Amino acid sequence: MALSEQLLSELRAVVGAANVLTSREDLISYSFDGTAALQQMPGAVIFVTTTAQVAEILKWANRTRTAIVTRGSGTGLSGGSLPSTDCVVMCTVKMDKILETDRANLTMLVEPGVTTIQIAEEAARAGLFYPPDPGSMKISTIGGNVAENSGGLRGLKYGVTRNYVMGMEVVLPNGDVTFLGNKCVKDVAGYSMRDLFIGSEGTLGVITKVLLKLIPKPATKKTMVATYSQMDAAAETVSAIIAAQIIPCTLEFLDRTTIHCVEDYAKIGLPLDCEALLLMETDGHPAVVAEEAAAMERIAREHGCLEVRVAKDDDEANKLASARRSAFSALARVAPTTILEDATVPRSELAHMIRFVEMIAKKHRLKIGTFGHMGDGNLHPTFLTDERNKEEMHRVEEAFVEIFDEAIRLGGTITGEHGIGVAKKSFLPKFAGDVQMRLMRDLRRTLDPNGILNPGKMFD
Ligand SMILES: Cc1cc2nc3c(=O)[nH]c(=O)nc-3n(C[C@H](O)[C@H](O)[C@H](O)COP(=O)(O)OP(=O)(O)OC[C@H]3O[C@@H](n4cnc5c(N)ncnc54)[C@H](O)[C@@H]3O)c2cc1C
Repeated sequence: MALSEQLLSELRAVVGAANVLTSREDLISYSFDGTAALQQMPGAVIFVTTTAQVAEILKWANRTRTAIVTRGSGTGLSGGSLPSTDCVVMCTVKMDKILETDRANLTMLVEPGVTTIQIAEEAARAGLFYPPDPGSMKISTIGGNVAENSGGLRGLKYGVTRNYVMGMEVVLPNGDVTFLGNKCVKDVAGYSMRDLFIGSEGTLGVITKVLLKLIPKPATKKTMVATYSQMDAAAETVSAIIAAQIIPCTLEFLDRTTIHCVEDYAKIGLPLDCEALLLMETDGHPAVVAEEAAAMERIAREHGCLEVRVAKDDDEANKLASARRSAFSALARVAPTTILEDATVPRSELAHMIRFVEMIAKKHRLKIGTFGHMGDGNLHPTFLTDERNKEEMHRVEEAFVEIFDEAIRLGGTITGEHGIGVAKKSFLPKFAGDVQMRLMRDLRRTLDPNGILNPGKMFD
């Protein structure tokens, strides 16, 4: 049942008529996120501009028992902002102000709709650095990044979004507003409620401000690419670099399928006669960077790489890094449906996991391109398929189950950065176990007894 005219006029009274979309043409654009093969029409889409509006909307939702799905830019890869039937999609992209850059405390206070790249650029203007850099950073919002605890290419050295969130303003499902955290470097007063909301995927509250930690900008960076005739040799290079106590800021890999797709798409001049490619970057003090870059090049050669190409300048470095940044877009051109997965294992199990994914691709007669954050053990096996082909989609489902079972068996996890949403919901009980599932359910029920926020996501 669509939202009644009465409910729509109540929504318009809170956010203004111009901020309520109801036409079918408009709603279609908000009926999916970045996740393949998932679509559901919402009842309405609203754009909020203030915390007070968010609070009013959540009180209204409790009174009218209307589901609210908070949405940033909709780039999520687990269906987190996929609408539930007849829900109201509450879009935060108009809450897009950078409120404060505090050079004395090295913090930045922003609204949730600010994009990740705007934060990185504002930090750079202040001579500072905001490291988390999801591949979607040109459009993803910080609200989405915090709600998913997003990672990025620099995760190995600098960590993920959680490591940069010092505080946040949250509107609880009942409309109460609170600020969790502060500018103190140390604070152990009570449970860390802030941490509970990081990665909560829009199920516990709506983030309306984020207080971010900034760090000094690294003085310099060196970028290089090494190619291999065997994936194992690339994986061994990664292990040897870590064992040599070098923590590069980027340690990413592409497999043969991905390299060919990227080259076809971006024309970077990547070598095509190889099975694996490692993108390696080190940053920091020039003397340390020179030493680490030389050591990484030596280790790559000792492990039988075919070639090492060291970027001569920033232009070439950006070009090489774009090979990895464009991997998803490049693969997405090849087949009608691209399903990007997110299996993560302890780094010692990487080579095994990559071989396992290859074996699964053969077993189920599927085309899979794999790339990812090799230094973090975070793989993105990407299924190139066609959702209209039901028989093939069935094989894709079977392949998923086997890949995630293996990741769990190896002590890994079912998602390193994309979250549970709806895509991984069926795998969560197996991964988390009964006690954790009960704890998560109890927490959610306490905060949101009427189940208005993002129903059906993460778990029922
Ligand atoms: C090409 C591409 C590359 C990507 N690369 C990466 C990567 O390298 N690393 C990575 O981790 N992810 C990556 N992603 C996934 C995605 O971009 C991230 O999950 C991102 O953080 C989502 O931000 P968004 O603004 O699009 O959020 P949305 O997709 O709109 O929402 C994501 C979730 O956050 C919730 N949410 C959004 N805003 C709020 C808020 N203000 N308060 C409470 N909940 C909220 C939503 O309800 C939903 O559950 C990539 C996606 C694409 C398409």
